[in-house]
Amino acid sequence: MSEILNVEEIFGSNVFTLRRMKERLPKNTYKDVIQIMEQGGELSLETADVVAKAMRDWALQHGATHYTHWFQPLTGITAEKHDAFVTHPDEEGRVLMDFSGKELIKGEPDASSFPSGGLRATFEARGYTAWDITSPAFLKEDATGVTLCIPTAFCSYKGEALDEKTPLLRSMEAVSQQALRIVRLFGDQEATKVIASVGAEQEYFLVDREKYLKREDLIFAGRTLFGAPAPKGQELEDHYFGSIRERVGSYMKDLNIELWKLGVTAKTQHNEAAPAQHELAPIYETANIAADHNQLIMETMKKVAERHGLACLLHEKPFAGVNGSGKHNNWSLNTDTGMNLLDPGDTPNANIQFLLVLACILKAVDVHADLLRQSASDVGNDHRLGACEAPPAIISVFLGEQLEDVVRQLVETGAAVHLLDGGKLQTGVSTLPDLDKDATDRNRTSPFAFTGNKFEFRMVGSSDSIGSPNTTLNAIVAEAFCEAADILESAENFEVAVHDLIKKYLTEHQRIIFNGNGYAQDWVEEAERRGLPNIKSMIEAAETLNTDKAVKLFEKFGIFTKVELESRVEILYETYAKTINIEALTMIDMTSRQILPAVIRYTKSLAETVIAVKEAGADASVQAELLQAVSGYLKQAKAALAKLQVSEHRAAVIKDAKEQAFAYKDEVKVAMEALRVPVDELEKIVDKDVWPIPTYAELTFEV
Ligand code: ADP
Ligand code: MG
Repeated sequence: MSEILNVEEIFGSNVFTLRRMKERLPKNTYKDVIQIMEQGGELSLETADVVAKAMRDWALQHGATHYTHWFQPLTGITAEKHDAFVTHPDEEGRVLMDFSGKELIKGEPDASSFPSGGLRATFEARGYTAWDITSPAFLKEDATGVTLCIPTAFCSYKGEALDEKTPLLRSMEAVSQQALRIVRLFGDQEATKVIASVGAEQEYFLVDREKYLKREDLIFAGRTLFGAPAPKGQELEDHYFGSIRERVGSYMKDLNIELWKLGVTAKTQHNEAAPAQHELAPIYETANIAADHNQLIMETMKKVAERHGLACLLHEKPFAGVNGSGKHNNWSLNTDTGMNLLDPGDTPNANIQFLLVLACILKAVDVHADLLRQSASDVGNDHRLGACEAPPAIISVFLGEQLEDVVRQLVETGAAVHLLDGGKLQTGVSTLPDLDKDATDRNRTSPFAFTGNKFEFRMVGSSDSIGSPNTTLNAIVAEAFCEAADILESAENFEVAVHDLIKKYLTEHQRIIFNGNGYAQDWVEEAERRGLPNIKSMIEAAETLNTDKAVKLFEKFGIFTKVELESRVEILYETYAKTINIEALTMIDMTSRQILPAVIRYTKSLAETVIAVKEAGADASVQAELLQAVSGYLKQAKAALAKLQVSEHRAAVIKDAKEQAFAYKDEVKVAMEALRVPVDELEKIVDKDVWPIPTYAELTFEV
């Protein structure tokens, strides 16, 4: 018998939950906190003091020695700077463990080294972190001890957002306000806000840590820069949902426990399509908390892997030739009274509201397909999007046959009166019956799929923050809602107006609907005919943030200023250039100091063999042929290495960020790919005992 895990007890044990707050705070203080959580505003310093003391007491009882403002700068990961609770010693040399309200609500890390895209000149390097009261504080336990983590937003001295969190919170407010206008139009007077809810499925790879440490490319770039394919890949589909190996299972078990302690609802786990690839999905929750929790999931995945002698790879494309990893971002909008705006509902009224919401979302996605694609881009994701891998870089929406048919009827006749499966619509004109949820989720290749009561945005990269995709989704949908509400609120006949508007939006934006195979070449051509953007790389997508359309959208809802957008574009170029530069230098180093020397030693032993065999009077033609082949690839590799060195030197000194990023994409990356070819050929013919780094087969099948 294995020990019994008391999950109910474990869950949230490291979180300063509402329940704990209620137990530990005076009634009025608790009420203040709840009010600000729900309606916004700022805690007074006195109230913050009371909350801080309660938090400190709880943290100390759990062994905490430090606290930190935990934030999400534009590096894609989280940042923290720990402070011990200890105070200045008194005259007798005693210290106290203290934590003030001021320390709780505001931090001032010396943050001059985080990316700011010029927003924060170093002379005013201060950045501020401010407590995000809607995301609970938690305790992190690791080798450094126990640390109280306060989730925060990170801004410049002038209040410009320097993180993933601030714009996300702003966008949630925007979509809430505009969505409320929509539900009010349909008679809902009770809801006081609309919550963007997100469930992000996280894919990852696990490899043996010792083997990982033998590959500089995994250490520095998070992905393999060389590697011939293993004899077996994912063609047998035997890994997907296959039984979980013992070592991986014991990792998953520990991972779940650590996440549950942190209040993360780790729910689903399974093997993914590629060998050594797995997935974890939590239960969906409010978008900003989901974003925090996704960061915790990624961090915890890495940490627990170390304990199990494993390394967790979150890169979008750790291995060429097998599937990469993504993060399916499931998104819906729910009123605080529990109504999901993406649920078709079962009354005619709810049906019409659903159709309006759907029409607005289609419009938003069509108008801002470029922004949505941008929001899912990071350096690693360039290997998936637009690189013949799932999903394509073209944004389209999958609705499912039934719903697509309803849309078609509405567009063609202005009324949807029958259902594909023969059923009848409830009341005839422009209503929609209960949809069969199973019928809506058959397509797996769509970047943006309606799956019953939510949209699943499948483009997001596995290592990326979900902050930006959800900020963008919320923003574009807020805009569409706002425009619809502007028209409908002043309509003389609401029934007629809403019907006309749905028809208009569906007609104008139906080109974004695509239910076929998103990976097929046909679709690329068809999408071009439809005029849908196909933006192939992260740096080509960067500029979409700077268009008049984007600035107008984000400024209108107070999500980004033009200056903030410009700074983000700058950061994207910089990040791209730096990342490719690291990859290029890693390749140069591995080739010069590991691969070429090993191959040269091998040619020496082959040459000696040829001579010895000949001297012994036997036929040495096989050995000689192999020597020829190896020497040939060796020469190619050396030449390709020299080219890469030249292009890297050239790109490294370019001053303009955009020009530099493009030089890395168009020259350095191309030279990297050229170097890889002869090296991978060498790997296939050089003695296994001589090859200096673990192979794909060893990395992905011997976990
Ligand atoms: P899949 O078939 O894609 O695995 P699941 O139903 O398992 O779909 O859901 C995947 C993710 O979607 C989970 O994180 C789940 O909590 C989340 N999810 C389910 N319903 C919603 C919803 N209404 N809004 C947002 N996310 C949701
Ligand atoms: Mg899914």
